[in-house]
Amino acid sequence: MTATLMNGTALAARIRAEVAVEARELGSAGLATILVGDDPASEIYIARKHAAATEVGIQTRDVRLPASTPEDEVVALIEELNADDSIDGMLVQLPLPKGMDEVRVTHAVDPIKDVDGFHPVNAGNLYLGTPLHIPATAWGCMELLAEYGVEVGGADAVVIGRSEIVGKPMAILLLAANATVTICHSRTKDLAEHTRRADIVVAAVGRPWLVTPDMVKPGAAVVDVGINRTEHGLRGDVDPAVAEVAGYLTPVPGGVGPMTIALLLRSTLRAARYRRGLLAFRGN
Ligand code: NAD
Repeated sequence: MTATLMNGTALAARIRAEVAVEARELGSAGLATILVGDDPASEIYIARKHAAATEVGIQTRDVRLPASTPEDEVVALIEELNADDSIDGMLVQLPLPKGMDEVRVTHAVDPIKDVDGFHPVNAGNLYLGTPLHIPATAWGCMELLAEYGVEVGGADAVVIGRSEIVGKPMAILLLAANATVTICHSRTKDLAEHTRRADIVVAAVGRPWLVTPDMVKPGAAVVDVGINRTEHGLRGDVDPAVAEVAGYLTPVPGGVGPMTIALLLRSTLRAARYRRGLLAFRGN
């Protein structure tokens, strides 16, 4: 068997085209990003987010601060952007420099503008089944599964990784879509025992080619969130040879990565609608 590759580049392009139409209808929408320090991967992600936002007609503000910026100053800047009427959505690129309190900084973002969905108001609403802002990577994985007609309701799903950014929201979205969800992590005793039973595997770990063909049930849908820069180049968390066993697989690159950016743009429009009273934001 050779898996159908779930083409995130193509679906993301379609979503961006939809967002472009909606952005025109709305008139204007603004996205601000804050990058503290000079992490090279973060710089690439920020550049991609700005290019994509600009292409769909979202105004952007690219705030860069040196790694040495005091935490109070970062928070004060976020508060300024919270009060700035031209900014609909805002994100703080993670990871923050060592020593900076990620919780304090991400919680400073006004929940209505929190397009990453990391603020407790948004995380809590996702948990409660009343989502407002949904973390873009997990949302993108769900959209890919839907696009390829992968049946989520009643499926056995295994999420590998329990980060606040990907693993946890992924598990909650799968549960909301009626999957039977298992969350595996660094302390899971026998990972393969879990993954072999799964109809859907989402790998969000950060370990190159952790998921091997023997760990996958024939015909399963495998979503690879991992982006690992190795001496051999960019590698996902899933060995590409899994394509010989799986029914569906996201490639790396060209799978989840472009989806994350497309859904971030969709979230920015959602923030603009919340702020204009076109959609109810029951979060404050
Ligand atoms: P993280 O380091 O915060 O979390 C990793 C998780 O993996 C942890 O919960 C840990 O318990 C688990 N883990 C570690 N080793 C394990 C093992 N051997 N077996 C099972 N579980 C194990 O990482 P993250 O922020 O969730 O990111 C995960 C990966 O996804 C990274 O490669 C990251 O670059 C990538 N990522 C991609 C996108 C995208 O848009 N495609 C977005 C965010 C993150």
